[in-house]
Parts: sequence; structure tokens; C-alpha cells
Amino acid sequence: MKRKPLLAGNWKMHTTVIEACHLAAEIGRCSAGIDDRDVLLAPPFTVLSEVAHVLKDSKIMIASQNVCWEDSGAFTGEISPTMIKSAGGTAAIIGHSERRQIFHEDNRMINKRVQGALKFGLVPILCIGETLEEREEERTFIVLTGQIRDGLAGVSAGDMKKTIVAYEPVWAIGTGKTASKEQAQEVHAFVRNLLAEMYEKDIADSVRILYGGSVNVDNVDGLMAQADIDGALVGGAALKAESFCRIINFT
Ligand code: PEP
Repeated sequence: MKRKPLLAGNWKMHTTVIEACHLAAEIGRCSAGIDDRDVLLAPPFTVLSEVAHVLKDSKIMIASQNVCWEDSGAFTGEISPTMIKSAGGTAAIIGHSERRQIFHEDNRMINKRVQGALKFGLVPILCIGETLEEREEERTFIVLTGQIRDGLAGVSAGDMKKTIVAYEPVWAIGTGKTASKEQAQEVHAFVRNLLAEMYEKDIADSVRILYGGSVNVDNVDGLMAQADIDGALVGGAALKAESFCRIINFT
């Protein structure tokens, strides 16, 4: 089964209001008229509504880089699903390795965020990935199994159909080291089989699994040619319209 590819740009903690509007406008221009693949941008919270406004006539989806499990209340520093939706967002990246490593978010908290996103109508993009140490100790599949099973605990089959998974080996994020296309495909196939065990094959076959970790203009075509790689979550190369537009137009 072929799933519609999704090319997603994670802007992390980059872009002022003016920079974000320029970048969004350029990406809007270069992706106009593209129908056979989806494009998503995850700008910082502070520019979500400006970027959504710039792209209001395009099909580009807007995501936040995190989301709270509650919809309002005393949660200083957090942002709620309804706030994201009111700014024009329809999805949320959850469990990015920078959240896990720098801000100590664990599978339990990440699961609450996934459930909150789904409850209030956002598409969760659940990020998973092993560290270099875990890979070298041959614990990759154990770690990923825990991240998937715990991160998706309580998620119904119906909600799983709406959920996106992003495999991002920590050792490949922002390091210039990409997993080889064979390494990435091996993990993507493993994740899909695990989802088939947890849900059913039809659902596992419909879930988009993105690869992230130093995706660039030179490696995107090879990665996207793999059977179980349905898209890319791109950091550094998404901050320049030229490279991200080339990635969107992978062949
Ligand atoms: C990311 O931010 O999710 C990411 C994969 O970054 P980079 O492409 O820079 O490795």
C-alpha cells in the first residue's frame, strides 16, 4: 500500500516574525500546485498564526512543536491544543528527541500529550528514536518498542489512523550523519509490524511513518524510495527555502 508522502519542516527555535513570514511565503510559492504529496511546517509557537496567515490560501499544514495535554489552566510555559488550533495549527510534534533529552520528557508525559492532541482534535506526530549508545548496545528495537507502546498507550484504533509516527535516530539529528536508507527502512518496517501487532495490519499499513535525521537534498531521494518511508521530518535543511523546496520535490 502506498501512502501519500508527507514532507515536514521543523523550524525548532529559529525565526523571528519577519524571517518566518519570508520563509513561509517562499515555501508556499515553491509548493503551489503540488498535489501528490503533503507539506507541513512546524514553526515556533510565537509565529504560528503569522505563518498560518501567510499560507492561508495554500494546502500546507501547520503544526506546533509540542502541545499540552490540558486545554487551559495553570500550566505556565505550555500551550494548549485549542490555542494551537486558534492560531491555525492542525497537528503537533510530540516527543521530539530534544524534548526527551534536554527537557527530560518521558514516555508517560509524551503519551499524555498524544492523548491530549487527539482529544482536542490535533494530529499527533509522535517522534521516536534511539541514541548512539542504545544502537551500539543493540538495544534499538527494545527502546523503540517501549517508545511506541508507552507513547501510544490508550490510543484507539480509530485515533491511530489519524496519528503520524516519525523515526528520528538521535545520533542522526543535527549531526550531518544520516541513517543509511537500509538502516532507516529496517526500522520503519519494524515499527509498522509492531503497529500491526498492536492494532491490525490495515491500520499499520495506513499510518505514515516519517524519517528524520539530517535529511538533505542529497539523501532525500534514496530515503523516499524505501517501501516503508512515507515522508521526512526535516530540521536544518527546512530553514532554507531552496533546500526544503528541493526536498519537497524529491523524485
Ligand atoms: C529534526 O529536527 O527533527 C531533525 C531531524 O533535524 P535535522 O534534520 O537537522 O537533523
